[in-house]
Amino acid sequence: MKDRNFLDTVMEFEQQLESMQTQFEALKKFVALMMEEHQTLQMENHYLRTRLEEVLSQQETLPALATLNAAEEHKEEVIDVGEGYDNLARLYHEGYHVCHVHFGTSRKGEDCLFCLSFFDKQND
Ligand SMILES: [Zn+2]
Repeated sequence: MKDRNFLDTVMEFEQQLESMQTQFEALKKFVALMMEEHQTLQMENHYLRTRLEEVLSQQETLPALATLNAAEEHKEEVIDVGEGYDNLARLYHEGYHVCHVHFGTSRKGEDCLFCLSFFDKQND
């Protein structure tokens, strides 16, 4: 009977190892997923920081514009709209969504109908 108990213990231990292996595989997949997401977020964060610095440095030049006459200020506004559009086009080209649905997230190499319809509207 002692041998029987020992065999049970060994088989039980084997089952525990198999169960742990399954859990470990799931954990590895989870870690891989988290690392991928982490990298995507880092890229997006880096891009948005760069954009923020660009926008802030553009704003620093605004006080100088205040000295210009009204007509010239109006002209600058028109140019700014064009730059905003170019920046969004560049952002899309670099692989990010510019649509309100997924703004700032990676397109994962796929075209987005929301983004494209946004550009269509701008071109009208
Ligand atoms: Zn999109």
